[in-house]
Amino acid sequence: MADKSFLGWPFFDDGHRSLSGELERWVGHSLPPLLEGAEDSLDAVYACVRRIVAELGKAGLLRVCVPRAYGGGRENLDVRSLCLARETLGRASGLADFALAMQGLGSAPISLFGREDQKQAFLPRVADGSALAAFALSESNAGSDVGAMTTTAVRDGQSWRIDGSKTWISNAGLATFYVVFARTGKEPGAKGLSAFLVDANAPGLDASERIDVIAPHPLGTVRFNSCRVPADSMLGQPGEGFKIAMSTLDVFRSTVGSAALGFARRALDEAAARAIQRRMFGRAQSEFQLTQAKLADMAVQIDAAALLVYRSAWTKDVVGGRVTREASMAKLFATEAAQQVIDEAVQIFGGLGVVRGMAVERLYREIRALRIYEGASEVLRLIIGSKVVEAAATEGAASPNPAG
Ligand SMILES: Cc1cc2nc3c(=O)[nH]c(=O)nc-3n(C[C@H](O)[C@H](O)[C@H](O)COP(=O)(O)OP(=O)(O)OC[C@H]3O[C@@H](n4cnc5c(N)ncnc54)[C@H](O)[C@@H]3O)c2cc1C
Repeated sequence: MADKSFLGWPFFDDGHRSLSGELERWVGHSLPPLLEGAEDSLDAVYACVRRIVAELGKAGLLRVCVPRAYGGGRENLDVRSLCLARETLGRASGLADFALAMQGLGSAPISLFGREDQKQAFLPRVADGSALAAFALSESNAGSDVGAMTTTAVRDGQSWRIDGSKTWISNAGLATFYVVFARTGKEPGAKGLSAFLVDANAPGLDASERIDVIAPHPLGTVRFNSCRVPADSMLGQPGEGFKIAMSTLDVFRSTVGSAALGFARRALDEAAARAIQRRMFGRAQSEFQLTQAKLADMAVQIDAAALLVYRSAWTKDVVGGRVTREASMAKLFATEAAQQVIDEAVQIFGGLGVVRGMAVERLYREIRALRIYEGASEVLRLIIGSKVVEAAATEGAASPNPAG
């Protein structure tokens, strides 16, 4: 059982503590058989995610992905609950974390901006695991630079006609529906984008091209060739696409940090256990001060990441409003720290650390993409830096006193 002392921090209430226990029990009993053979082939990866979503739904654990009125656990999307779920699943399996995360990321635009009929039609099915969700923003020439998007949606009688191509789309080929961002206006860049709810069976949608990545992850390209969707498929208002995407990321960047935190905790647990058990030069590896220094640095990075992640989640849940700065800090620090923690864990394991099938080897592959998606670390640094400058300029007056 992992160290759960952080649940005593003032960010959490009893509901969070009981959710954490529920998640731990599910991960201990129900998850291991679902993961069997998951890495055998791409087909196996897709099948595994489908199984995990169905079982998470049955267990009632996907309720963290939607508000209470649509089958969720709390009145509004609760970022702390999402983070606890991702951290707990992430400690056990990146794929299990991914399965839950996509139900949240792919449906949050509906929870945050959908009309009542759209919420009723999609959210209960996300919560019970009968519908799989996807979030289609990126394109081959519009990743970090969302404003370079070229996919278009044009109103044509009683429908919208979507043309273009999205890539790096998680759950492509598996999802029941996609939240698709497309250009509807003539305004350049991030202006003139809108969001649409698109059924996977919509005529003209092709999600058959898969992308094989470093760690198991259903991922692919989604093409829209005169793809027709009903006139009422738009989410929010015309031109709100960028706001919808960024508001969703405001919630989900903290949760990417929490997944990284789960990976890092697992790496530290594995490394500490190995160092205690491994004997070298006549004593346990853990008795060497160099090893203890490594474990100390890993533990400090983990606690610092946890504080940033749950500070951001608590701020969104309790204070409200946009948390762009807090969420960017949480994702940036937690993912970069997890990469370092996992690398040290592999080092502590020596040769065994790079053997396929070892937990630290899997974590080494699983962590990498988290520093790229939902805002690469460079993008997050730019966001945080601009917030610092903005705040300093607003305070402007508070002119520094270089002379002390
Ligand atoms: C496993 C995985 C899952 C994904 N799932 C989804 C999904 O479900 N939906 C979706 O829409 N997208 C998804 N993505 C796409 C992801 O969001 C993009 O990969 C990401 O935004 C980066 O875009 P890019 O790959 O085009 O890289 P680019 O935009 O080409 O950036 C390349 C690199 O340039 C650097 N960089 C970026 N901006 C700057 C800057 N201003 N200054 C200096 N350097 C910079 C960064 O290091 C970045 O990694 C996923 C990606 C991966 C790998």
